[in-house]
Amino acid sequence: MLTKGEMERYDRQIIVRGFGVEGQEKLKKARVFIAGAGGLGSAAATYLTAAGVGVIRLVDHDRVELSNLNRQVLHWDEDIGRSKVASAAEKLNQLNRGVEIEAIEEMITEANVSQLVAGFDLIVDAMDNLPTRYLLNKVAIEKNIPFFHGAVHGFEGRAITIIPGETACLRCVYRGVIPEDKFPVIGVTPAVIGCIQATEVIKYIVGVGQLLTNRLLVYDGLSMKFTEFRVKKDPNCEHCGDLRGEETSER
Ligand SMILES: [Zn+2]
Repeated sequence: MLTKGEMERYDRQIIVRGFGVEGQEKLKKARVFIAGAGGLGSAAATYLTAAGVGVIRLVDHDRVELSNLNRQVLHWDEDIGRSKVASAAEKLNQLNRGVEIEAIEEMITEANVSQLVAGFDLIVDAMDNLPTRYLLNKVAIEKNIPFFHGAVHGFEGRAITIIPGETACLRCVYRGVIPEDKFPVIGVTPAVIGCIQATEVIKYIVGVGQLLTNRLLVYDGLSMKFTEFRVKKDPNCEHCGDLRGEETSER
């Protein structure tokens, strides 16, 4: 049930076709895991908080640095040196007190990833490195949790939505080398891609529209073009290839 205040706060989205009070109630019940409180995480967490999801668990082990501030807009000058998740949670709480924000200052590793995502309905990949993305992709498939990938580089970005057992996974799509540590990025790019991820999360929870599945969306801000590449689930994929119908339905 929505309160009177929630009916008013979410009025403009409740009247979106296919949404309704029922859609808002679904959002209120949803538990979203966001890996990374950087540029992508700032955008995704801000709009998911504004939209009224029930719980957001933000996980990041980094502290805010001056060179983060061109793109990680939940962190401000006064936050330099603070934990990113604490800084982010403070702003998100001010935006919407109706959303429960869990701030976890931890590095996501093979040892803790399963426990970190336990009890969550969706995983947003707002990371900045491929090894952790693969870790999250793998655990999403193992636990049958939809996975919303986003990545940025300079003026370019990518996004894809992964439904375990049904669609191509991140490993089906990416086979490349691990990119360099320090990559160029202008703040508007993670804003665009993080909002695409948040849009996909909202659509998935509410049950409207067509998801960005089996389609890798590539955004080029310089030419201002969105290009789509069809991708297929790889039967030999080392992350999702051994899944069979019977196995997936049990999870
Ligand atoms: Zn795969």
